[in-house]
Order: sequence, then C-alpha cells, then structure tokens
Amino acid sequence: MAIINDGVLNKKVQRVIDDQKRAALKQALERGQREIERRARASAYVRADGRIIVRAGENSVVDNRQLPRMPQGSCIIIPDEIYQSLRVVADVTNEKTMEVPFYLTGYNSGQTVYIDGFNADTSANQNNVSATFSEQLTQEMFDFAKAAKPGENKALVHGHTHPRIGHAERGYLNYSIGDIDAYIKMHYDFPEINGKINVLGCLLTGGNFNFVFFDGNDMYRFDDVFVKNSQGELKKLPAFGPDIIALKYAQHRGLQNS
Ligand SMILES: [Zn+2]
Repeated sequence: MAIINDGVLNKKVQRVIDDQKRAALKQALERGQREIERRARASAYVRADGRIIVRAGENSVVDNRQLPRMPQGSCIIIPDEIYQSLRVVADVTNEKTMEVPFYLTGYNSGQTVYIDGFNADTSANQNNVSATFSEQLTQEMFDFAKAAKPGENKALVHGHTHPRIGHAERGYLNYSIGDIDAYIKMHYDFPEINGKINVLGCLLTGGNFNFVFFDGNDMYRFDDVFVKNSQGELKKLPAFGPDIIALKYAQHRGLQNS
C-alpha cells in the first residue's frame, strides 16, 4: 500500500542486498542520494543497526519480533469514541474482506502519544491487498501537517487494516514491506511533513492495534496501547500478537506432540 500513486513499488526491485550493494547504498547515502536507499528499502528493509529483515518484494511479511521496541514507558492513548470508530473500521474490514485506509491525529508529551482525531474511508473501492488513500483523506492529512508548528509535537498516524485472509501465517497479522515503504515516503517525501511532525503507522488486524513510530531511520513498535474511557480509566489493547513465527513454532510443536 502507498499513500500516493507510486511507480517505484510496481517495478521489480532487487531481492537481496548483499554486502557490496549495501556498501554502495551507504556511499549513495553519503552523496545525499536518499532516493536510492528508499527504493532499496522497498524490497529489503535494512534496520538502523544494519540487519536486513526482509529479502523479498513489497508484500513480504515483516516479523514482529525483529521490530525494535520503543523505550520503556512509551505508549499510545486512544479516547473511547475514536476506539469505537476503529472497532467499526475493523469490522468493515472483515465483513467486506478489504483493507481500509484511515488516519489518526494527535500529539506527544514525552513518550506518550495522545490520539485526538480520526477519519477513514470505508467506501467499497478498496481491495483486499492494498488500501488506497482517497484524495480527500490525503488532503486532510496534509492540511493537518501544514498547520502544525515546530515544537507542537504533533503526531500523524498513517493507518490501514488487513482483513483476515487465509491463514495467519500468510501474514495478515503483520506489516508488509510495502507498508514500511509508505512510512518512509511520508517521512521524507513531503515538505509539509518532513521533520515537522512525528510520523507513526497503525495496522489494525486480528483484533490487534499495532502502532509503530518511524524516526526516519528505523521503525519502532509500541507494545503499550490503551483506550481511555470518559472516567479517565485506561484499558490495555492487544498489540503485535500473535506473531507468525511464534504461530509456526507452535504448530511445529503441536505436530511433534501428536
Ligand atoms: Zn499493509
């Protein structure tokens, strides 16, 4: 999925980045050719520590366990009315078997991100493998980013859903490499956004609220996501589970035990 039309993702890109190519990427980076790195990341996401976590195309599944975690104490807080809207979006996703694009707005205070705005496009023009942001949704996101002033700590969450299709191992519970590419694009390619506001991602799938923060370099997962009711009470929401690798391992053990 991508926030705007993107020819890059549709092209066949290299499947494996070997050491030599990574060295070339580094040189290209040093020359300021960030675009080259971005294209490479579309098919092979290289973590900030140099680990390559995906080696295939844009629909490859990202192993949750390899996403670095936000520092202890980091969390997302969603007010109840927006949580209810997200539940509806998740239901539409599975009823119509399609990905639904949405966004959330908010701000951060320290390591806590407070969500305070939401919109989604649940019209039937979506399909089951990629969520397309309408012009209107995209414009609203840009307007929010444009209005944000430095130092306000505004946060914009690029969200979408994955419907339950086939087995979990196929990856609907996980981010795809194309998803990561969308966050990289958002962070770098739009002057309204670049360096001015915090870019987050949210994937709703299988009852999970999977939030990530993209810092321009790497993608960090939030393990602590809460819904806050009108009394101010917090309830923890499921995030990043179960994991496809863990599921496969459990299946393997099950076979051994039977
Ligand atoms: Zn996705």
